[in-house]
Amino acid sequence: MTLLDRALVRLLPVVPRPVVQMFSAPYIAGATLDEAVRVVKRLNVEGKLATIDVLGEEITREEDARAIAQAYRDVFDEIERDRLESNVSIKLTALGLGLSYETCRANLEDVVRQAANDRNFVRIDMEDSSTTDDTLRLYRELREDGHENLGIVLQAYLRRTLDDIQGLADLRPNVRLCKGIYVEPSSIAFTDADAIRASFVRCLDSLLDASAYVGVATHDEWLIEQALRIVGERGLGRDAYELQMLLGVREQRASELVAAGHRLRVYVPFGEQWYAYSLRRLQENPAMAGTIARATVGRAFGRAT
Ligand SMILES: Cc1cc2nc3c(=O)[nH]c(=O)nc-3n(C[C@H](O)[C@H](O)[C@H](O)COP(=O)(O)OP(=O)(O)OC[C@H]3O[C@@H](n4cnc5c(N)ncnc54)[C@H](O)[C@@H]3O)c2cc1C
Repeated sequence: MTLLDRALVRLLPVVPRPVVQMFSAPYIAGATLDEAVRVVKRLNVEGKLATIDVLGEEITREEDARAIAQAYRDVFDEIERDRLESNVSIKLTALGLGLSYETCRANLEDVVRQAANDRNFVRIDMEDSSTTDDTLRLYRELREDGHENLGIVLQAYLRRTLDDIQGLADLRPNVRLCKGIYVEPSSIAFTDADAIRASFVRCLDSLLDASAYVGVATHDEWLIEQALRIVGERGLGRDAYELQMLLGVREQRASELVAAGHRLRVYVPFGEQWYAYSLRRLQENPAMAGTIARATVGRAFGRAT
């Protein structure tokens, strides 16, 4: 990332929405469930599994949270109807965690019950560190209530994550392991790229020691190779772990991993509320963010930059 790109990334929030939409198109299935279904069918034909995310992070009213829960039930209906190889991923803030823990719990239970009826699975995404404790608590409560078809996400950049793995071990959890995408202070998170990678490998080993099913969610080639080495050395079968990537990122590499016989799942976000998700994706890809911001600034000043 050049210094200029780094500076331009900060401009992204003032970039006009249609411009953000154009550049984020590869990362979003579309605004509607039909569009998401089309993308999942294409992925399934390529031998890839999917996890569908209904975008809805900026929830401020109980009825919006209920509408998101209903949208997930609609997703399960569609998965059943079209026999899609897909589960779902959910952000607890979209189900109302910011309004009240109980509201969120009730909404999550509704979705998890429907998933169980369909013999399907719900993964709780992990958001910023202000939600980590509540997310872990809700996961434990639902698992202890007998909801087996529920998984969680742990972020390798958080210093607490190894302890969280020990805390979850008795549940034999199904965990997606990722680096973590939110900006967190160095008091609670590793911020150096090598430290995050090292933590990722330690967390993966620790999860496998705890007999967790792990979804290794990364596009980082070094980490993918470490993960394949680790599962190989442990002699794990192909149904004991999976690799996960985001829609629109490293699709060719994903196809190679499928061809090599690995289970690979693609995260497929869709929905009207695509904006916050798009900004995060673009900020992660500074070269692209720089291009967008530069084009916008250029237009604003009436010249190409
Ligand atoms: C399936 C899945 C689910 C996730 N769920 C969560 C979650 O619940 N909570 C959370 O905090 N984070 C989540 N993340 C995001 C994750 O934490 C990282 O921020 C993200 O995956 C980037 O880290 P990386 O390991 O891919 O490595 P990086 O070093 O960031 O990326 C490695 C390489 O991948 C490519 N790449 C990465 N991102 C992009 C992009 N946007 N566009 C183009 N190329 C790109 C680049 O070539 C880059 O060099 C998820 C990621 C995945 C794959």
